Amino acid sequence: MYLHLVKSTNPGTITEIETTIDKKGKTLFKYLFFAFGACNDGYKFMRKVIVIDGTVMKGKYKGCLVAASGQDGNMQIYPLAIGVVEVEDDAGWVWFFKNLIKFVPEVYPMAHLAACAFHLFRNVKHKYNCGGLAGLVSKAGRAYTVGDFRYWWRQIEETKPECAEYLLNIGLPHWTLSHFTGNCYNLISSNISESLNAAMHKGVEYPIVSMVEFIRAMLMRWFWCRRTFTGKTRSKCTPEIEELLIDHLKESLNYAVLGATDWIYQVNDAVGCEFTVDLEKKTCTCRVFDFLKIPCCHTLAACRVRNIDPYSLISECYFVGPWREKYKGVLMPCPNERDCDIPIELTEVPVNPPRTKRGGGRPKNKRIPSQGEVDHGTTGKLARRSYDEVKMMFALLTP
Ligand SMILES: [Zn+2]
Repeated sequence: MYLHLVKSTNPGTITEIETTIDKKGKTLFKYLFFAFGACNDGYKFMRKVIVIDGTVMKGKYKGCLVAASGQDGNMQIYPLAIGVVEVEDDAGWVWFFKNLIKFVPEVYPMAHLAACAFHLFRNVKHKYNCGGLAGLVSKAGRAYTVGDFRYWWRQIEETKPECAEYLLNIGLPHWTLSHFTGNCYNLISSNISESLNAAMHKGVEYPIVSMVEFIRAMLMRWFWCRRTFTGKTRSKCTPEIEELLIDHLKESLNYAVLGATDWIYQVNDAVGCEFTVDLEKKTCTCRVFDFLKIPCCHTLAACRVRNIDPYSLISECYFVGPWREKYKGVLMPCPNERDCDIPIELTEVPVNPPRTKRGGGRPKNKRIPSQGEVDHGTTGKLARRSYDEVKMMFALLTP
């Protein structure tokens, strides 16, 4: 019924609820998925990379509050969909992903890389029990360039050859940024996981309906604040990007640039390292340009020589226009049920809270480390990672 009320003032909102019938014929709550219309509208203007993040709920229901989010053009978290699933139940995860891909079919590559990298990190720690090894693996995993990756890789090989072999068998594209072929911008190295989750954390102690309402109110306020902020911004790109550009520009001042063609340049930095910039393909061998879609310092040095406007090389998603569009949609308050006409079928079927399976003591929020191989691929397998794992993985990968 609450979902019906929310939808009445928030058109375009997608909600799904899964229930089961117990032995006595009572309808029990099982899973929940919701995505507000305003967020769905904004998704069109977003970089198509999604991070899944979650928190174990502290109420009666032994569940996990899951959030799928992206980043807006100002490097701020942008919520897309929220769900409630059971922590140690694969079926719930599969269910969440099925609903998510209804409007975000590109969810897989990044979620895959993230889940895989985390799982791997944990396995390395568990299997080889060697101080510092897991840290090396993490550094190797998040290196942008193959050169940096190799630097860390040599140390892994020296420390534990068996571990290096194990990692090779998994396949480098599955756990390293430098060999990852998809488009992940800076998400793996950002602290995106922290904010939405931290904000939602306050809600996890409430019963489910109150929790959803808490999140709705929170997002409503976020949207309003950001809409105001985007309206006041007068620069071409978002404030974070403008700042980053200035940093890159300052760095680029003393670089030596040599042309190879009209588009390809060799750029030597202040300490004599050499980089190749391709202004046509929008790449640099430091790979910052490739990943972020924002010119790196080497590219900016080449731009000066070629007399190219750096803004022409920035991805559209970082401009103020699309950023504003993301927050155009308004999240509306939920109407009072006494003032609304509610379809009879919604009032007739009461949905009961599930019988809690949680025993005494503190809720377990970490899974016991699994051994064996890392899974690659299917939703079912992906679903096996609990939320906290993905969250922790991001924490580990954050420089
Ligand atoms: Zn560069």
